Amino acid sequence: MTAGDEDLASLAGWQRELREQFPIIVANPELAYLDSAATAQKPHAVLAAVQTYLTTVNANAGRGSYPWANRTTALLAQARQRVAEFLGDRDRDRDGDGDGDPGGPSAVHFVSGTTEGLRTIARDWLTTLLTDGDEILVPFADHQANLLPWLEAQRLLAARGVRITVHPLPYQASSYDYDTTALTELVGERTAFVAATHVHHVYGGNLNVHRIRQVVGPRVPICLDAAQSVGHLPLDVGELDVDFVVFSGHKAMALPGSGAVWARNTRGPRFEPGGWSGTPNTVGAVALTAALDWLAAADPARIERWTVALAARLTEGLRRLADYEVLGCQLSLAADSSVQQRQGIVTFRHHGIKSDDLGFVLAAHGFLVRSDSLCQAGRDEREGSVRVSVHLHNTPAEIDRLLEVLRSLSVG
Ligand code: PMP
Repeated sequence: MTAGDEDLASLAGWQRELREQFPIIVANPELAYLDSAATAQKPHAVLAAVQTYLTTVNANAGRGSYPWANRTTALLAQARQRVAEFLGDRDRDRDGDGDGDPGGPSAVHFVSGTTEGLRTIARDWLTTLLTDGDEILVPFADHQANLLPWLEAQRLLAARGVRITVHPLPYQASSYDYDTTALTELVGERTAFVAATHVHHVYGGNLNVHRIRQVVGPRVPICLDAAQSVGHLPLDVGELDVDFVVFSGHKAMALPGSGAVWARNTRGPRFEPGGWSGTPNTVGAVALTAALDWLAAADPARIERWTVALAARLTEGLRRLADYEVLGCQLSLAADSSVQQRQGIVTFRHHGIKSDDLGFVLAAHGFLVRSDSLCQAGRDEREGSVRVSVHLHNTPAEIDRLLEVLRSLSVG
């Protein structure tokens, strides 16, 4: 029995109870939803919180002085505090009254999702931080939402006569992890900012961001794209010592159009998003609080064990099928390997079947997976692949059924 199988056995009771809480999953027993990295399904608690808010309190925030409006304003403050706590920011509520008024310097800003969050940091903050000759390091093979905003900032600065250098944050090809040895060579006096990703949306690896801090030292701000990690594994801003954490509500079991930027606000200028934001996404914030409450109670450490074990089961099964190639770290394909376990995301190709067709066939068998170029920066649109991404409602039986179907498509 592998460590993964042991986890699946010991967590089975916990998982069964939580799976029951997803109405869309329970209502569709013939389907296996395997696309949580694209968007996550919602537990009943989140749907109920939305319904309760809209049927008992619904009002605009920060505008009226009647009870519903005041309650909505308070719910937004509560959501900010929930985000900070969920990310391990123990400092924010320094006065300890839990009302969401910041006691410490850190802040939580609501955005429509990771893409908008990263873009806002790039345009409204990074452009005020950098001066002529500065250098930044950003990932060139992660999600394009974590590359294009930094290149846009470079263009905006160039238009003002400020020239900065953008270096690719180096990868180690063998492990698909950031290469901290190569990074050491690149970091210097002028290094002013690093953008990184917590969990890779194609390869599923945890990119060990704490090691970046060890290389760049205490001065350089680090921005973390946590779109694929919030709700999937424990994330602690104290341990990671990053300066921004950005994530999307819809991938963390809350609603589309919601998301958050957590800003430490101790390195560089304070993050003050510009523009006029108008009416905030009140329902999105309410759903986010409910989703983070639910995920905290479910326990991200257990969610990680469960989803890593499911991904290992799938990877191990695919390794035995000659017609398939799993993308990403090959070392972790060895059964006994402890390196770079996949965090619930496995991406693969069939040597003889186009990925679109494979996705279509799998859908016909009830497996809902992603099949395209996966918005990876630098990747050719035609270079398709199939991505299976699991969450805690998925089961070993679903993975075994999927492997059966994949095996039946093997020509060798
Ligand atoms: N970063 C990563 C790592 C992602 O996986 C995604 C979504 N696939 C994004 C950013 C963009 O998220 P959103 O579309 O919710 O803005």
